[in-house]
Amino acid sequence: MSTKNPRYDFSGQVALVTGAASGMGLAAARAFAEAGAAVVLADLHHDAVDRATQSLIDAGHQALGVVCDVTDEAQAAAMVDRTVEAFGRLDTAFNNAGIQAPPADAADEAAEDFDRVTAVNLRGVWAAQKHELRQMRAQGSGAIVNNSSLGGLVGLPERAAYHASKHGVIGLTKSAAVEYAPRGIRINAICPGVIETPMVAEMLEGQAEAMAGIMQQQPIGRLGKADEIAAAVMWLCSPAASFVIGVALPVDGGFTTH
Ligand code: NAD
Repeated sequence: MSTKNPRYDFSGQVALVTGAASGMGLAAARAFAEAGAAVVLADLHHDAVDRATQSLIDAGHQALGVVCDVTDEAQAAAMVDRTVEAFGRLDTAFNNAGIQAPPADAADEAAEDFDRVTAVNLRGVWAAQKHELRQMRAQGSGAIVNNSSLGGLVGLPERAAYHASKHGVIGLTKSAAVEYAPRGIRINAICPGVIETPMVAEMLEGQAEAMAGIMQQQPIGRLGKADEIAAAVMWLCSPAASFVIGVALPVDGGFTTH
Protein backbone atom coordinates (compact mmCIF):
# COMPACT_ATOMS: atom_id res chain seq x y z
CA MET A 1 0.00 0.00 0.00
CA SER A 2 1.17 3.51 -0.70
CA THR A 3 0.05 4.72 2.72
CA LYS A 4 2.29 3.73 5.63
CA ASN A 5 -0.37 4.57 8.20
CA PRO A 6 -2.76 3.04 9.18
CA ARG A 7 -1.81 -0.64 9.11
CA TYR A 8 -4.47 -3.33 9.20
CA ASP A 9 -4.36 -6.80 10.68
CA PHE A 10 -6.35 -9.41 8.74
CA SER A 11 -4.35 -12.37 10.02
CA GLY A 12 -6.42 -15.53 10.40
CA GLN A 13 -8.98 -14.11 7.95
CA VAL A 14 -9.92 -15.12 4.42
CA ALA A 15 -10.38 -12.53 1.67
CA LEU A 16 -11.88 -13.09 -1.78
CA VAL A 17 -11.34 -10.64 -4.65
CA THR A 18 -12.96 -10.84 -8.10
CA GLY A 19 -11.20 -9.32 -11.10
CA ALA A 20 -8.05 -9.88 -9.06
CA ALA A 21 -5.56 -10.34 -11.90
CA SER A 22 -5.26 -6.64 -12.71
CA GLY A 23 -5.69 -3.05 -11.53
CA MET A 24 -7.63 -2.39 -8.34
CA GLY A 25 -8.42 -6.06 -7.76
CA LEU A 26 -4.75 -7.02 -7.76
CA ALA A 27 -3.87 -4.05 -5.53
CA ALA A 28 -6.57 -5.08 -3.03
CA ALA A 29 -5.54 -8.76 -3.12
CA ARG A 30 -1.94 -7.73 -2.39
CA ALA A 31 -3.03 -5.37 0.40
CA PHE A 32 -5.12 -8.09 2.09
CA ALA A 33 -2.23 -10.55 1.77
CA GLU A 34 0.26 -8.06 3.22
CA ALA A 35 -2.16 -7.55 6.13
CA GLY A 36 -2.02 -11.29 6.85
CA ALA A 37 -5.15 -12.65 5.15
CA ALA A 38 -5.31 -15.81 3.08
CA VAL A 39 -6.45 -14.47 -0.29
CA VAL A 40 -8.45 -16.01 -3.12
CA LEU A 41 -7.86 -14.28 -6.45
CA ALA A 42 -10.67 -14.86 -8.95
CA ASP A 43 -10.48 -13.74 -12.57
CA LEU A 44 -11.53 -14.64 -16.06
CA HIS A 45 -8.12 -15.37 -17.52
CA HIS A 46 -6.24 -18.46 -16.41
CA ASP A 47 -2.70 -17.23 -17.14
CA ALA A 48 -3.25 -13.78 -15.64
CA VAL A 49 -4.78 -15.12 -12.45
CA ASP A 50 -1.98 -17.69 -12.14
CA ARG A 51 0.68 -15.01 -12.50
CA ALA A 52 -0.99 -12.74 -9.93
CA THR A 53 -1.44 -15.59 -7.46
CA GLN A 54 2.14 -16.80 -7.89
CA SER A 55 3.46 -13.29 -7.23
CA LEU A 56 1.72 -13.32 -3.82
CA ILE A 57 2.87 -16.86 -3.02
CA ASP A 58 6.46 -15.92 -3.98
CA ALA A 59 6.23 -13.01 -1.53
CA GLY A 60 5.40 -15.52 1.23
CA HIS A 61 1.63 -15.07 1.34
CA GLN A 62 -1.21 -17.62 1.38
CA ALA A 63 -3.03 -17.31 -1.93
CA LEU A 64 -5.24 -19.37 -4.22
CA GLY A 65 -6.11 -18.53 -7.83
CA VAL A 66 -9.55 -19.42 -9.19
CA VAL A 67 -10.67 -19.02 -12.78
CA CYS A 68 -14.16 -17.53 -12.63
CA ASP A 69 -16.41 -15.70 -15.05
CA VAL A 70 -18.73 -13.79 -12.72
CA THR A 71 -21.42 -13.59 -15.40
CA ASP A 72 -22.02 -17.33 -14.81
CA GLU A 73 -23.74 -17.87 -11.46
CA ALA A 74 -22.54 -21.47 -11.24
CA GLN A 75 -18.95 -20.27 -11.52
CA ALA A 76 -19.55 -17.61 -8.85
CA ALA A 77 -20.95 -20.30 -6.55
CA ALA A 78 -17.98 -22.58 -7.27
CA MET A 79 -15.58 -19.71 -6.51
CA VAL A 80 -17.02 -19.39 -3.00
CA ASP A 81 -17.02 -23.19 -2.56
CA ARG A 82 -13.33 -23.36 -3.54
CA THR A 83 -12.56 -20.58 -1.06
CA VAL A 84 -14.22 -22.41 1.80
CA GLU A 85 -12.70 -25.78 0.81
CA ALA A 86 -9.22 -24.24 0.76
CA PHE A 87 -9.34 -21.93 3.78
CA GLY A 88 -12.39 -22.95 5.82
CA ARG A 89 -14.33 -19.67 5.83
CA LEU A 90 -14.88 -16.31 4.11
CA ASP A 91 -14.43 -13.08 6.04
CA THR A 92 -14.17 -10.34 3.44
CA ALA A 93 -14.97 -10.03 -0.25
CA PHE A 94 -14.23 -7.31 -2.80
CA ASN A 95 -16.58 -7.71 -5.77
CA ASN A 96 -14.51 -5.76 -8.24
CA ALA A 97 -14.63 -7.50 -11.64
CA GLY A 98 -15.90 -5.06 -14.24
CA ILE A 99 -15.58 -3.88 -17.82
CA GLN A 100 -16.12 -0.66 -19.77
CA ALA A 101 -18.68 -0.27 -22.52
CA PRO A 102 -17.63 1.55 -25.68
CA PRO A 103 -18.82 5.19 -25.55
CA ALA A 104 -22.02 5.64 -27.55
CA ASP A 105 -24.74 8.18 -28.21
CA ALA A 106 -27.67 7.04 -26.06
CA ALA A 107 -29.79 6.84 -29.20
CA ASP A 108 -27.34 4.49 -30.89
CA GLU A 109 -26.00 2.26 -28.11
CA ALA A 110 -25.88 -1.41 -29.17
CA ALA A 111 -28.05 -3.83 -27.19
CA GLU A 112 -25.13 -6.30 -27.10
CA ASP A 113 -22.95 -3.69 -25.36
CA PHE A 114 -25.69 -2.96 -22.82
CA ASP A 115 -26.19 -6.68 -22.16
CA ARG A 116 -22.46 -7.41 -21.81
CA VAL A 117 -21.67 -4.52 -19.45
CA THR A 118 -24.75 -5.31 -17.36
CA ALA A 119 -23.87 -9.02 -17.23
CA VAL A 120 -20.39 -8.37 -15.83
CA ASN A 121 -20.79 -5.20 -13.78
CA LEU A 122 -24.25 -5.76 -12.28
CA ARG A 123 -25.25 -9.42 -12.58
CA GLY A 124 -21.65 -10.42 -11.76
CA VAL A 125 -21.72 -8.46 -8.50
CA TRP A 126 -25.20 -9.83 -7.75
CA ALA A 127 -24.04 -13.44 -8.25
CA ALA A 128 -20.82 -13.07 -6.27
CA GLN A 129 -22.54 -11.25 -3.41
CA LYS A 130 -25.34 -13.85 -3.32
CA HIS A 131 -23.00 -16.78 -2.87
CA GLU A 132 -20.66 -14.95 -0.50
CA LEU A 133 -23.68 -14.13 1.67
CA ARG A 134 -24.69 -17.81 1.85
CA GLN A 135 -21.35 -18.54 3.50
CA MET A 136 -21.32 -15.40 5.64
CA ARG A 137 -24.94 -15.98 6.72
CA ALA A 138 -23.92 -19.41 8.03
CA GLN A 139 -20.93 -17.87 9.84
CA GLY A 140 -22.90 -14.89 11.18
CA SER A 141 -20.07 -12.53 10.19
CA GLY A 142 -18.41 -10.92 7.19
CA ALA A 143 -17.76 -7.73 5.25
CA ILE A 144 -18.38 -7.14 1.54
CA VAL A 145 -17.29 -4.21 -0.61
CA ASN A 146 -18.76 -3.87 -4.10
CA ASN A 147 -16.90 -1.83 -6.70
CA SER A 148 -19.22 0.75 -8.23
CA SER A 149 -17.75 3.90 -9.80
CA LEU A 150 -18.13 7.64 -10.07
CA GLY A 151 -20.47 6.30 -12.77
CA GLY A 152 -22.70 4.99 -9.98
CA LEU A 153 -23.24 8.53 -8.68
CA VAL A 154 -23.39 10.85 -11.69
CA GLY A 155 -24.25 10.79 -15.38
CA LEU A 156 -21.83 11.51 -18.24
CA PRO A 157 -22.50 11.79 -21.98
CA GLU A 158 -22.13 8.58 -24.01
CA ARG A 159 -21.83 6.42 -20.90
CA ALA A 160 -25.45 5.40 -20.28
CA ALA A 161 -24.98 1.62 -20.17
CA TYR A 162 -21.85 1.65 -17.98
CA HIS A 163 -23.33 4.22 -15.59
CA ALA A 164 -26.59 2.29 -15.39
CA SER A 165 -24.71 -0.85 -14.38
CA LYS A 166 -22.76 1.05 -11.73
CA HIS A 167 -25.89 2.77 -10.35
CA GLY A 168 -27.33 -0.75 -10.08
CA VAL A 169 -24.39 -1.89 -7.97
CA ILE A 170 -25.28 0.76 -5.40
CA GLY A 171 -28.89 -0.47 -5.28
CA LEU A 172 -27.73 -4.05 -4.73
CA THR A 173 -25.36 -2.87 -2.03
CA LYS A 174 -27.84 -0.75 -0.09
CA SER A 175 -30.64 -3.31 -0.13
CA ALA A 176 -28.44 -6.21 0.92
CA ALA A 177 -26.75 -3.97 3.49
CA VAL A 178 -29.95 -3.17 5.37
CA GLU A 179 -31.02 -6.81 5.16
CA TYR A 180 -27.76 -8.17 6.54
CA ALA A 181 -26.73 -5.47 9.05
CA PRO A 182 -28.67 -7.17 11.87
CA ARG A 183 -26.96 -10.48 11.04
CA GLY A 184 -23.41 -9.23 11.64
CA ILE A 185 -22.51 -8.68 7.98
CA ARG A 186 -21.52 -5.27 6.64
CA ILE A 187 -21.95 -4.45 2.94
CA ASN A 188 -20.71 -1.23 1.35
CA ALA A 189 -19.70 0.10 -2.06
CA ILE A 190 -16.84 2.25 -3.23
CA CYS A 191 -17.05 4.68 -6.12
CA PRO A 192 -13.59 5.18 -7.63
CA GLY A 193 -12.81 8.24 -9.74
CA VAL A 194 -10.49 7.91 -12.72
CA ILE A 195 -7.81 5.46 -11.61
CA GLU A 196 -4.56 4.52 -13.36
CA THR A 197 -5.19 0.89 -14.32
CA PRO A 198 -5.01 -1.10 -17.57
CA MET A 199 -8.73 -0.26 -18.13
CA VAL A 200 -8.02 3.48 -18.13
CA ALA A 201 -4.78 3.09 -20.10
CA GLU A 202 -6.91 1.62 -22.89
CA MET A 203 -9.39 4.50 -22.67
CA LEU A 204 -6.57 7.07 -22.69
CA GLU A 205 -5.24 5.54 -25.90
CA GLY A 206 -8.58 5.10 -27.64
CA GLN A 207 -10.53 8.14 -26.41
CA ALA A 208 -7.85 10.68 -25.49
CA GLU A 209 -10.07 13.75 -25.99
CA ALA A 210 -13.01 12.44 -23.98
CA MET A 211 -10.66 11.33 -21.20
CA ALA A 212 -8.99 14.77 -21.05
CA GLY A 213 -12.45 16.27 -20.49
CA ILE A 214 -13.24 13.74 -17.77
CA MET A 215 -9.90 14.41 -16.08
CA GLN A 216 -10.64 18.14 -15.87
CA GLN A 217 -13.46 17.22 -13.51
CA GLN A 218 -11.10 15.50 -11.07
CA PRO A 219 -10.14 18.45 -8.82
CA ILE A 220 -7.05 16.76 -7.38
CA GLY A 221 -5.51 17.13 -10.86
CA ARG A 222 -4.18 13.63 -11.32
CA LEU A 223 -5.29 10.04 -11.84
CA GLY A 224 -5.88 7.96 -8.75
CA LYS A 225 -3.77 4.90 -7.98
CA ALA A 226 -5.02 1.36 -7.52
CA ASP A 227 -3.42 1.33 -4.06
CA GLU A 228 -5.57 4.31 -3.03
CA ILE A 229 -8.66 2.24 -3.82
CA ALA A 230 -7.24 -0.79 -1.99
CA ALA A 231 -6.72 1.44 1.07
CA ALA A 232 -10.42 2.34 1.11
CA VAL A 233 -11.44 -1.30 0.67
CA MET A 234 -9.22 -2.34 3.57
CA TRP A 235 -10.73 0.32 5.80
CA LEU A 236 -14.30 -0.65 4.91
CA CYS A 237 -13.57 -4.33 5.59
CA SER A 238 -11.76 -3.64 8.87
CA PRO A 239 -13.24 -3.21 12.35
CA ALA A 240 -12.36 0.50 12.00
CA ALA A 241 -15.51 0.74 9.85
CA SER A 242 -17.67 -1.34 12.21
CA PHE A 243 -20.52 1.22 12.15
CA VAL A 244 -20.43 1.83 8.38
CA ILE A 245 -23.30 0.14 6.52
CA GLY A 246 -24.60 0.58 2.98
CA VAL A 247 -22.51 3.58 1.95
CA ALA A 248 -21.42 4.35 -1.60
CA LEU A 249 -18.07 5.90 -0.74
CA PRO A 250 -16.52 8.18 -3.38
CA VAL A 251 -12.74 7.69 -3.64
CA ASP A 252 -12.38 10.04 -6.55
CA GLY A 253 -10.07 13.01 -5.99
CA GLY A 254 -13.17 15.19 -5.69
CA PHE A 255 -14.77 14.19 -9.02
CA THR A 256 -18.32 13.88 -7.71
CA THR A 257 -18.25 16.97 -5.48
CA HIS A 258 -19.30 19.29 -8.31
P1 NAD B 1 -8.85 -3.79 -15.05
O1 NAD B 1 -9.32 -3.99 -16.45
O2 NAD B 1 -7.42 -3.47 -14.79
O3 NAD B 1 -9.24 -5.06 -14.15
C1 NAD B 1 -10.50 -5.68 -14.23
C2 NAD B 1 -10.30 -7.17 -14.02
O4 NAD B 1 -11.60 -7.78 -14.06
C3 NAD B 1 -9.45 -7.83 -15.12
O5 NAD B 1 -8.44 -8.63 -14.53
C4 NAD B 1 -10.46 -8.67 -15.89
O6 NAD B 1 -9.91 -9.88 -16.44
C5 NAD B 1 -11.50 -8.98 -14.80
N1 NAD B 1 -12.79 -9.36 -15.38
C6 NAD B 1 -13.44 -8.79 -16.42
N2 NAD B 1 -14.56 -9.45 -16.70
C7 NAD B 1 -14.64 -10.46 -15.79
C8 NAD B 1 -15.57 -11.50 -15.58
N3 NAD B 1 -16.65 -11.64 -16.36
N4 NAD B 1 -15.35 -12.37 -14.56
C9 NAD B 1 -14.24 -12.25 -13.79
N5 NAD B 1 -13.31 -11.31 -13.96
C10 NAD B 1 -13.51 -10.41 -14.96
O7 NAD B 1 -9.81 -2.66 -14.48
P2 NAD B 1 -9.81 -1.76 -13.16
O8 NAD B 1 -9.68 -0.36 -13.63
O9 NAD B 1 -8.93 -2.27 -12.09
O10 NAD B 1 -11.34 -1.95 -12.77
C11 NAD B 1 -11.78 -2.63 -11.62
C12 NAD B 1 -13.20 -2.20 -11.31
O11 NAD B 1 -13.21 -0.80 -11.02
C13 NAD B 1 -14.20 -2.40 -12.45
O12 NAD B 1 -15.44 -2.83 -11.88
C14 NAD B 1 -14.36 -0.99 -13.01
O13 NAD B 1 -15.61 -0.83 -13.65
C15 NAD B 1 -14.23 -0.17 -11.77
N6 NAD B 1 -13.84 1.23 -11.97
C16 NAD B 1 -12.70 1.54 -12.66
C17 NAD B 1 -12.33 2.89 -12.75
C18 NAD B 1 -11.02 3.31 -13.38
O14 NAD B 1 -10.82 4.52 -13.54
N7 NAD B 1 -10.10 2.40 -13.70
C19 NAD B 1 -13.13 3.88 -12.18
C20 NAD B 1 -14.29 3.52 -11.52
C21 NAD B 1 -14.63 2.18 -11.40
